[in-house]
Amino acid sequence: MKIHEYQGKELLKKFGVVVPRGIFCATVDDAVAAAETLGGKIWVVKAQIHAGGRGKGGGVKLARSLAEVRQVAGEILGMQLVTHQTGPEGQKVRRLLVEEGADIRKEYYVAALTDRATQKVAMMASSEGGMDIEEVAHATPEKIITVFIDPALGVTDAQALQLADGIGVPAASQAQAIDTFRKLYACYMETDASLAEINPLILEGNGTIKALDAKFNFDSNALYRHPEIVAYRDLDEEDADEIEASKFGLAYISLDGNIGCLVNGAGLAMATMDTIKLFGAEPANFLDVGGGATAEKVTEAFKIMLKNPKVKGILVNIFGGIMRCDTIANGVVTAAREVHLSVPLVVRMKGTNEDIGKKILADSGLPIITADSMAEAATKIVAAVK
Ligand code: ADP
Ligand code: MG
Repeated sequence: MKIHEYQGKELLKKFGVVVPRGIFCATVDDAVAAAETLGGKIWVVKAQIHAGGRGKGGGVKLARSLAEVRQVAGEILGMQLVTHQTGPEGQKVRRLLVEEGADIRKEYYVAALTDRATQKVAMMASSEGGMDIEEVAHATPEKIITVFIDPALGVTDAQALQLADGIGVPAASQAQAIDTFRKLYACYMETDASLAEINPLILEGNGTIKALDAKFNFDSNALYRHPEIVAYRDLDEEDADEIEASKFGLAYISLDGNIGCLVNGAGLAMATMDTIKLFGAEPANFLDVGGGATAEKVTEAFKIMLKNPKVKGILVNIFGGIMRCDTIANGVVTAAREVHLSVPLVVRMKGTNEDIGKKILADSGLPIITADSMAEAATKIVAAVK
């Protein structure tokens, strides 16, 4: 799960990281009032969407008067912000963060993250802050310093110094930088984040170290123990079909292809998508109906898949273990009738009550194409959509 920058900064502040003063707002008038409340002479108006690269896309703007705050807030609010993380369709800006302008002497990068390759918690820092870190990693990997944290020890003095020194924090600000790294690590660990990133972490003219941006990803499997993080969820930023699917206990993820897949079991769902790709097409979604799929659940799954205009065919791949094939067959037939299925449907089922299931499909009178193996099923659905 992702959260907004203003929420990330709230979290960082709770853990003692210094952040600029800022006020979250939803209208242009509120933005002007926020700037007045903050005082000072320079403000930064920032689009709040769940994607980075907002600055480059025109979603972060400086204002030097209240009139300018009004103008840029008006420009940003409601815009369809396109960044390298939103895809070409962009994301609509519904909220703003108005902040005091910081006196930036230097921008750094720092993050705590779960490193899959080493299966460890890593802290990464770079002197090249404010930039796209993937670009830095690609062009100048030597400018990224990585240390791996032993959870029993936390961030050691030597590691903290290695990071601060390595990115060139001046001596007078090193103690605060080190303190910030430790607090970021604590925040990452205690919230069960998989990524806690500050880009840029800045050195101000007066030597203060401050977090100017905040990006978090949280491990969804740990959210049950963090109601305070769940409260940050913003459904406007999530895929509408995925939200709908979660209401029915369906694990659904939208993808870009044109073959909808309905499968029981996450492993089989992954294998089904791989098989579709192997036979030259692309899946339109990941969908695991789970072990206890009822006819109602299957119908909802069909409805959600068919809402996607890109779907040109559906592949149902079921292994009947505890879930019997006849139950699924009844669900498929009911669903196909209810949604007036108009795209080709290939069904492959194996396991308990397979024969009864196949008979139900054959007797339904619906134009259902059956298959015995996954390869046959994939070949048939790929041919049907071409
Ligand atoms: P994103 O990463 O989505 O582009 P950031 O919050 O990192 O958004 O902002 C982009 C850039 O805007 C920063 O690198 C920084 O240079 C500038 N910036 C952001 N917030 C402030 C602020 N409060 N004061 C001054 N400059 C800022
Ligand atoms: Mg940033």
